Amino acid sequence: MGIFKEKSTFAKFREKITNVIVGNPNLDEDFLDELEESLIISDIGIDTTEKIMEQLRERVNARYITKPEEVQKALESVIADLVDKGERNQLCKENPLIILMIGINGGGKTTSIGKIANLCQKSGRSVMLAAADTFRAAAAEQLQQWGERIGVRVIRHEEGTDPSAVIYDSIQAAKAAGTDVLICDTAGRLQNKKNLMKELEKMNRIIDREYPEAHRETLLVLDSTTGKNAVSQAQEFSEIAEITGLVLTKLDGTARGGIAITVTDQFDIPIKYIGVGEGIDDLLEFDPTQFAEEIFD
Ligand code: GDP
Repeated sequence: MGIFKEKSTFAKFREKITNVIVGNPNLDEDFLDELEESLIISDIGIDTTEKIMEQLRERVNARYITKPEEVQKALESVIADLVDKGERNQLCKENPLIILMIGINGGGKTTSIGKIANLCQKSGRSVMLAAADTFRAAAAEQLQQWGERIGVRVIRHEEGTDPSAVIYDSIQAAKAAGTDVLICDTAGRLQNKKNLMKELEKMNRIIDREYPEAHRETLLVLDSTTGKNAVSQAQEFSEIAEITGLVLTKLDGTARGGIAITVTDQFDIPIKYIGVGEGIDDLLEFDPTQFAEEIFD
């Protein structure tokens, strides 16, 4: 399918692996050491690399793989296993569903909300959006534009009002309209972590009280081009919220795809969606096998 273009880190990764395979006639310790190094420089963290290598070594020791040219297929299947979180890879299919979208500004949160709303609508679910990033006036405006574009109602308040008030009103509106999915934008001020944590806690309390029947998702939006920063953001946000899934944006272009493997492995958070462009249809449901195959495609 060609999700990842030639410039992506996967292209470098692919090249490195191919060089290791072509440059080594034997599947020996030197080969495995070189392979390990290629994984680490492809943004796959040391812990995750060790896990991948352990699985590969098991297959080598059991003589499932005996030649360098068999390593690529084996790597594909090890990586696919690592990022496969089963049903947790999919967005909750039960209604009503309330989704809190979290992540720092500029990561692609608003765009992803628009794209997810569009996908939900396409699958026959009714959608409403809540502009609960009241910190930036532009955020509500941008969300409103997405709402108009896809024909979805957006609940918004004045800039600077309590975001929880937006959540409260949105819940009442969603309940009154019998909306299936309510998607809530939130402020991305990780630099003021304490405040953000309090804000999220308050939103969750309101949801508990006003919408106990709703199923819940908290999706963290991560810009994959930020490399290791994405890992530290996952760390920070997992300390202040119970994340149920990842949306990895900008996996097109110059993306650093290795991060996808590291974050999902280290934090045991499933990837639910990947963003592959700025257009409305440039969001794909995550498929572990396809993802792993694409790395070497
Ligand atoms: P927010 O501040 O987190 O809400 O970020 P935005 O949704 O405004 O996105 C920031 C920029 O990233 C915009 O120019 C988007 O068009 C762009 N963007 C978002 N997702 C993707 C993606 O998957 N691929 C690419 N290439 N650009 C994206």
